[in-house]
Amino acid sequence: MKVQSFTYNPFMTNCYVCYDAGEAVVIDPSCASAEEKDEVTQFLESNDLTVKHLLLTHAHIDHIFGCAFFEARYDDEFKMHEASIPFIERSVDQAKAFGVEVDPPSVPDTFLEEGDTISFGTVTLDVLHTPGHSPDSICFVDRDSDQAVTGDVLFQDSIGRTEGLPQTSMPQLMASIRDKILPLGDAFTIYPGHGPKTTVARERRQNPFLNDI
Ligand SMILES: [Zn+2]
Ligand SMILES: [Zn+2]
Repeated sequence: MKVQSFTYNPFMTNCYVCYDAGEAVVIDPSCASAEEKDEVTQFLESNDLTVKHLLLTHAHIDHIFGCAFFEARYDDEFKMHEASIPFIERSVDQAKAFGVEVDPPSVPDTFLEEGDTISFGTVTLDVLHTPGHSPDSICFVDRDSDQAVTGDVLFQDSIGRTEGLPQTSMPQLMASIRDKILPLGDAFTIYPGHGPKTTVARERRQNPFLNDI
């Protein structure tokens, strides 16, 4: 699986295009401006990629700016965890509180949960439920290539925020990292919602938030 990252909007949120054998998934369309949306679609088109799935790691507003745009363009819905619903319903008001505008995704009829799989090209992504930063946090794991897109759970030298946000839990977040992310193995590359990619090995060794884990 190849992974192309983009970093967009005032929150500096990563958007990922994962692709293989001419097919792609778009994860967390953080692109807010027309130029940002254009950059992602240009990448998809110039690489001749067919978009098979639109995915969200969680529905915080900084991760969903481009949702309505992609849903209209690819005539599809974003797939997400069921606990995303209240966040999407509150997203317009949430965005106003931050002084930005958001065009939220539609609420789908079916949802992703632990154990589900997403297929494109020759890739099968496993879905892990990793609550704590947000109750709807899920990760997309490619065990064949040791790569995972993990949203706002584990960052280089940091972890997801659990203060000043609704429905967070530090114990849950630490359990998600301990029981779901670290067991992926040291070889895994982690693509987080913010900041550079990292590895399980690096964070296990030197992330100060994981000292007591
Ligand atoms: Zn978040
Ligand atoms: Zn975020």
